[in-house]
Amino acid sequence: MNFQEIKRLDEKYYAETFSRFPVAFVGGKGATLVDTEGKEYVDFGAGIAVNIFGVNDEEWKQAVITQLNGVQHLSNLYYCESQAKLAELLCKKTGAKRVFFGNSGAEANECAMKAARKYSYDKYGEGRYKIIALNNSFHGRTLFTLSATGQDIFHQYYMPFVAGVECVDANMKSVTDAAADGTACAVMIECVQGESGVTVLDAEFLQMLGKFCSERDILLIVDEVQTGYGRTGKMFSYEHFGISPDIVTVAKGIAGGLPLGACLFYKKTERVFSAGDHGSTFGGNPVCCAAGVNVIERLTDEFMLEVQGKAEYLRAKLRIIDGVNAVTGLGMMIGLDIDKNVKEVAAACLKKGLLVLTAHKRLRLLPPLTITKTEMDEGLTILREVLNA
Ligand SMILES: *Cc1c(COP(=O)(O)O)cnc(C)c1O
Repeated sequence: MNFQEIKRLDEKYYAETFSRFPVAFVGGKGATLVDTEGKEYVDFGAGIAVNIFGVNDEEWKQAVITQLNGVQHLSNLYYCESQAKLAELLCKKTGAKRVFFGNSGAEANECAMKAARKYSYDKYGEGRYKIIALNNSFHGRTLFTLSATGQDIFHQYYMPFVAGVECVDANMKSVTDAAADGTACAVMIECVQGESGVTVLDAEFLQMLGKFCSERDILLIVDEVQTGYGRTGKMFSYEHFGISPDIVTVAKGIAGGLPLGACLFYKKTERVFSAGDHGSTFGGNPVCCAAGVNVIERLTDEFMLEVQGKAEYLRAKLRIIDGVNAVTGLGMMIGLDIDKNVKEVAAACLKKGLLVLTAHKRLRLLPPLTITKTEMDEGLTILREVLNA
């Protein structure tokens, strides 16, 4: 199908939930994508931090195909090699004790909040249920995760939202006030708030929060759905701040482009669930887990150093572009403060062959972690042209 045919079908039959860019991709290699008309684009978005090795990565494809030659799905009623292996690799790499697999970031966060309530119920009985989340957060599109998303635009239409969730400002006074009634069981944070503008939280606040939570046995849940898997130059963003979460959630990059999410339980929460307490039909699917094994095996210390080097290169070049007022975020999770309208800039970049994302008033760049210097330079040239036009 050509682009117009695809667009016509989509506009007629797909729910009108997305305002899409006028393009459909059919192939590519690494951080270079090709559309239906054969035009090439540099990808500074990676499918929103998902395709960490870009597209058409040979080794990753081979891992997926090998699993497809076995079985594609059989249900969590049975044991599964790729799932067990990925659980082991994740725990060994992160210090977590156990893992639950779902299909998405929202499900991972849903699982984390259920686990926090269960942990508190088991230990303290009823009444200790409150999830404290932060303003300007984003945790997903299910009702529970929307309730914990501290942005007013997400709190319309679907009333009533889940009770027992409170969003507060990212400072100790607000968190302490919210916990003062003794009902809090967890605080959930993103160390770098992605969707709301690529904003890094204050290091001192995060350290004080970690201490506060551990002293009161309030679980610290870190949402690493966007920040995890090397995006910030470390496996997880919380490592930059020296804090120790009780639960970590991951998704986006975890399987390099297939739907998978994980909820990681550290020491305190290791045994929070028993048989029947939580579940999923597709979660931890054999093919997605085989892809996940390939991804995590390649996230070596050497790979992280390369990511850090690329991030430094890109950030240094971005900082000196006329029209860029500030470069925010961490590593390869980059926010750009610009004077121009970000939606218009993103549309203009697309026309010239560059994919960029937006996050509120900022441009957001989340390139594949394997992006080459040539691809970065091509992208930078287009961005410079658009910002200086
Ligand atoms: C994308 C995102 C989610 C939601 O993930 P889905 O896979 O879309 O459900 C949750 N938290 C953060 C921080 C995210 O960036």
